[in-house]
Amino acid sequence: MILTGAAQTPLLSNGFIIVRDGRIAEIGEGAPEPAGTENIHTIDARGKLVTPGFVNIHTHAILTMVRGVAEDMGFAPAYTPGVPHGHEVTEEEAVALARLGALEALLFGSTLINDTYVHQHLTMPEMAETGIRVWGSGRIHDVDFSRVHLAEWEHRPEIGDWSLGDAVALHERFHGKLNGRLGVHLAAHAPDTCSRWLLERIRDERDRLGLRVQSHLSQSKLEVARIRERDGMSPPELYDDIGLLDDRLLAAHCIHIDEADIARIGARHVHVAHIAKGNQTGGTIAPTTALRKAGAQFALGTDNMHADMVEVMRWALNSGRVQEGCVTEFWQPRTVFEMATMGGARAMGLEDEIGSLEVGKKADIVIFDYRRPHLVPVIEPLGNLVHTAQGRDVDCVIVDGVVVVEGGRPLLVNQDEILRDAQRAAENLWARARAA
Ligand SMILES: [Zn+2]
Repeated sequence: MILTGAAQTPLLSNGFIIVRDGRIAEIGEGAPEPAGTENIHTIDARGKLVTPGFVNIHTHAILTMVRGVAEDMGFAPAYTPGVPHGHEVTEEEAVALARLGALEALLFGSTLINDTYVHQHLTMPEMAETGIRVWGSGRIHDVDFSRVHLAEWEHRPEIGDWSLGDAVALHERFHGKLNGRLGVHLAAHAPDTCSRWLLERIRDERDRLGLRVQSHLSQSKLEVARIRERDGMSPPELYDDIGLLDDRLLAAHCIHIDEADIARIGARHVHVAHIAKGNQTGGTIAPTTALRKAGAQFALGTDNMHADMVEVMRWALNSGRVQEGCVTEFWQPRTVFEMATMGGARAMGLEDEIGSLEVGKKADIVIFDYRRPHLVPVIEPLGNLVHTAQGRDVDCVIVDGVVVVEGGRPLLVNQDEILRDAQRAAENLWARARAA
């Protein structure tokens, strides 16, 4: 069974896909023509569901370090005292934790993660070793991040200079590398951690280099209050005023917004990175129904929560329905599946390359094992995927035409080693955080 993500033939119930040179050469119903003398590798996917790889547009792989703890503390780790922070993470720890986050995402069917945190020049190639497509950005800010969790926002130009400089250098070094598996955009951390001066420079670099910008936006009441006090407007209003609020912006969260902000974000067709599970774990919810009706584009991200896009689809669907108070055509499994695949591809500017299974596109393919009690009977495969499947039902992952996960296990990296290194890194970070 193939969920193609293509408009004309969304489901092939007895289909085949032929991949050649990393791209989809043929896709159709029935059996393909005999391949002749070609050297072919065949995957028998009978009893399985084939989907496009998920495009997870907002992650911080290193923040796996706060897993199981930060979810219950009330707010984003950067603003929370008593937990490890980005500036405390050594290069070695960053790599260990980033490899864990990337592996987790890949095993759950994300074929692209868009990741931002610290030491990105080291973590990006290491994450890519798992076989996943890694887009990333250096974290751009001009506050002193070692003081933010103490509620001190002092903007210092020299910090803005190096963080923006690093982000641009990252682009020069990695963009388009590994046959296009690596890519770099610009990440303004958030309105409250970037001064207006810095945000304007980010806008200028965006235009000079032809990049997209991602940012946390209206994530907390604290951020909104801070921008009101500093700039006399709401965070989306500030971004609009600067020229950042448009369809080149990937705005994560968009929770604390009023009617005017909703209209503004919608009219500019911003790509909202909807962190459906993470936000609700924190007791908040973005007005996704109103935003979509206003014209905002939607994609999904797992942020610092566990990187299961199947679960995030489910949270996005259900929280959309809670806002409407019933089941409607506006929130259906196809809605959130689209967000997790083509919506993500569009947000990244990669809609011609990935996001659906169509001839000519890169072969980023996920195969779910549907021969499991919670996935039988199969009457409507997409309904099962969104309502009852889990990331760990992923059997096989193909990225750029290469099989990188088989039988639910990674083929290119040593999972035991990754788990061991990440555990050790997190224990060291927590020991230092608790001693401070
Ligand atoms: Zn985030």
